[in-house]
Amino acid sequence: MELNWNQIDDKWRNKWYDSKDFETDPNDKPKKFITVAYPYPNSPQHIGHGRTYTLADVHSRYYRMRGFNVLFPMGFHYTGTPILGMAKRVQANDEELIEAFKNLYNVPEEKIKDFVDPVKIADYFHEEIKSGMIEMGYSIDWRREFTTIIPAYQRFIEWQFRNLKEKNLIVQGNHPVGWCPNDQNPVSQHDTLGDVEPDFTEYIVIKFNMGDEIIPVATLRPETLFGVTNLWINPHIVYKKVKVDDEVWIISSECAYKLGFLNKKIEIIEDIQGLELIGKKVKSPTNDNEYLILPASFVTPTTGTGIVMSVPAHAPYDYQALEDIKNGNQKNIDVSLQNEVQNIESISIISTEGFGEIPSQDVIKRMGITNQEDPKLEHATKEIYSKEFYEGKLNSNTGEFSGKKITFVKEEVKEWISKTGKSDIMLELTNESVKCRCGTECVVKLLNNQWFLDYANKEWKAKAHDCFESMNILPNDIRTEFFNVLDWLRERACARQHGLGTKIPWDSDWLVESLADSVIYMSFYTMAKFVNAKEILAENMSDEFFNYIFYGNGDSGIIARDAKITTEKLEEIRSEFLYFYPVDSRHSGRDLVPNHLTFFVLNHVAIFSKENWPKEIVVNGSVLMDGKKMSKSMGNIVPLRGAIKKYGADPIRLSILISAELLQDADFNVESVSGIKNKLETMYDECTKLNNPGEVGTEPEDVWIQSRLSKLISEVTDSMEKMRIRESLHHILYGFDSELQWYMKRANAKNRDDVSGVLNKVLTTRIAMLSPFAPHIAEEMWEKLGKSNMVSKSSWPKQEEQTDDKAVQNESLLSSVMNDISNITKVTKITPTKIIIYTANNWKSKAYHKILNGINSGETNVGTFIKELISQKDTEDVKKDPDFVKKTIKDILSEPTELRKTKMCAGEIDESKIISKELSSLIETDYGIKLQVFAENDSEKYDPKNKARMARPYKPAILIE
Ligand SMILES: [Zn+2]
Repeated sequence: MELNWNQIDDKWRNKWYDSKDFETDPNDKPKKFITVAYPYPNSPQHIGHGRTYTLADVHSRYYRMRGFNVLFPMGFHYTGTPILGMAKRVQANDEELIEAFKNLYNVPEEKIKDFVDPVKIADYFHEEIKSGMIEMGYSIDWRREFTTIIPAYQRFIEWQFRNLKEKNLIVQGNHPVGWCPNDQNPVSQHDTLGDVEPDFTEYIVIKFNMGDEIIPVATLRPETLFGVTNLWINPHIVYKKVKVDDEVWIISSECAYKLGFLNKKIEIIEDIQGLELIGKKVKSPTNDNEYLILPASFVTPTTGTGIVMSVPAHAPYDYQALEDIKNGNQKNIDVSLQNEVQNIESISIISTEGFGEIPSQDVIKRMGITNQEDPKLEHATKEIYSKEFYEGKLNSNTGEFSGKKITFVKEEVKEWISKTGKSDIMLELTNESVKCRCGTECVVKLLNNQWFLDYANKEWKAKAHDCFESMNILPNDIRTEFFNVLDWLRERACARQHGLGTKIPWDSDWLVESLADSVIYMSFYTMAKFVNAKEILAENMSDEFFNYIFYGNGDSGIIARDAKITTEKLEEIRSEFLYFYPVDSRHSGRDLVPNHLTFFVLNHVAIFSKENWPKEIVVNGSVLMDGKKMSKSMGNIVPLRGAIKKYGADPIRLSILISAELLQDADFNVESVSGIKNKLETMYDECTKLNNPGEVGTEPEDVWIQSRLSKLISEVTDSMEKMRIRESLHHILYGFDSELQWYMKRANAKNRDDVSGVLNKVLTTRIAMLSPFAPHIAEEMWEKLGKSNMVSKSSWPKQEEQTDDKAVQNESLLSSVMNDISNITKVTKITPTKIIIYTANNWKSKAYHKILNGINSGETNVGTFIKELISQKDTEDVKKDPDFVKKTIKDILSEPTELRKTKMCAGEIDESKIISKELSSLIETDYGIKLQVFAENDSEKYDPKNKARMARPYKPAILIE
């Protein structure tokens, strides 16, 4: 039946709302506090956002059914510059943005007029996102909603900042930051196009002298100075002669621009053509060597200074560029200079096992490279660099550094050169290009006297490390990524000049940065309820108030009086925090691992005592659309609310969740949505038929299917605990279909007219387990099954205490015999007139179980088994058929360990009884003939082909005529 999904969504959403089911207050039950990164409301949500929030909702609903008192709250993060930037663009009548509002986001025109005010933008998308969340059926306690610009939240952030400053974790200093020169503001991931976290690295600038002027070269590998044979410039670049502080440097204009942000005083003197520098000589900063400046095409003005050292022995590009000159393939060189270059010889400085004296030469020859434009040079470079970096040692050409490993030598050489006064430091972004949301290319800036969170602090890192170590991280593989982030993390600017948010409490020219005011807000959810009900007013929330709520510090009477609330109310707010904290699970997308999630842990360990440190982090990958990344430029962004209208909330929830496990990218596509819809509609139809179930039967197949159902419950529960969502859903939706088919086959063969009791039980269980994933349709199905309560309020299905292993073994014997018969008829193409089954002798069954026992405790030797079996009375007949032991061992070893265990628990089964009693009806249904069953030792048996002796336990012999 085709369902009206929107109608079902509406119906249950309203019932949940009316019954206040998701409004969670402290009670006697154990709690779970599940949070997810709150959204930044600068656009409507799309399908991709839906994944993280849906996962958190499934998690919450699952725990609720497991008997926990679950709090799942939501807030909205207004802090930051992007919304401000949007408002400015609206003020400037930016057509591209206004078009996007109108056509991409469907914002009504009269609303767009208000968007000159950044708060109006945030408010609009806040409501839009919230509506989408409600429509998706998220089980959120909306009484605790807040935005990060309400006064009470600002009090809270001021408390957080003063607290960190008192602990010396916010420090003033000069540190590098990613920077937008246009906005004059530091930038982090949330401020950049494509959400790139600006990352930078330190280059060592080595200064070569050319007369009174300096030719600086920036390098990550200062030790290569020992192997320099010449410098490279690009003849087509116009260089600048620049006064840098008190020196005159020759550098690319890009370099001059960047140095301006690094505390250097820059004054441009004049242009110098690259060509003019060719053939000039420079002096080494550390000895009397002189080097030629030569032209090479691979030198770029955007990296470093636009001038590079040539280390031909170890850099294939350098080697090849010199060869090109020597071979006369470089047109900017005259004959006398070319002759001079002929004398340049590579200087080897690194010995690495597997490479010869001049590694570049070897690799270039091997790869057949003949000029510096050859793209293979890139591979050659990578090969040599990485091998030398990890395995190479400096050789005797490097003086005092001889014998040192490359991996560790950078700092020492840097130190050594700096003693000559002929070096400097230059910071560069490592990302290829980072653009601010305003479109400006970002740079690294050395920020002076700025406020920084001291994430470089070793003790702080160590504490965070402990927390990561002790917490549950799903999936677990991502744990090391957190450790890596902690390792490289350094001081981080926490103040901004513009944007929405809270002022730095001691420096009102500055605002708290958006990744600094979003790290401990989960604790604010515990008091937001009281703030929203105006039971406590922002103006009365002092540091003492927060210290009491979070630490229990101070005199409750005085604090209550100053906060203008009763002592009882103060205690209520405090116990709310004590009850719900710590966070039991934090959900977020993978892109927040190197920033938000790490800062979340760092700030928790700094501010809260150990018992309030977070317990778990769950990280998920992104959502692709038809296998492709969603992006504005691709035009394939699917707005969430539009999709809900079109397909219904549950089909979207399921199709996002079922296509991938946590870290993998999920794929959203129309085929998968319609596949899910069909499956759910089929289940729904079954519910309408099974709403008046009879008794649960007691036939072997009834016992069997209930055992299987119990196994299904344990499998799904197990997957849920690990948040293996895809696996859980597959089990629930598809994993039981073949069991049901077999069950129906058995029931039909016996002409049973009412199996609705069992089918109802199976369906009830599956729907209960489905309900965290597809809450609306699950409620509807539940109602159709005749249940009076809501499935969201029901308990997660419990596994039976004891599953009936014998029933499972019996049933698997029947289906394997049916399979064997069907295979034989297929191969022999016989239409059977007679089917005869011979069951194994009793001693074989005894021996089988002794062998099974032996194997389960590690014995596999045929001889040992034979000896032992013969020595015992009930299995001494083994001596008549020693081959039986070998075959049985082989049978057992080919089975999975789990099956061996259930077989052992099931014990001996009476095959002849089961087969004659239960198989006959199946044979009659499938083949229309009567089954004959003989025991192997039956002297009267019909056995023209002498098959009976082949019978083994679980493998009866079969004769078909
Ligand atoms: Zn900008």
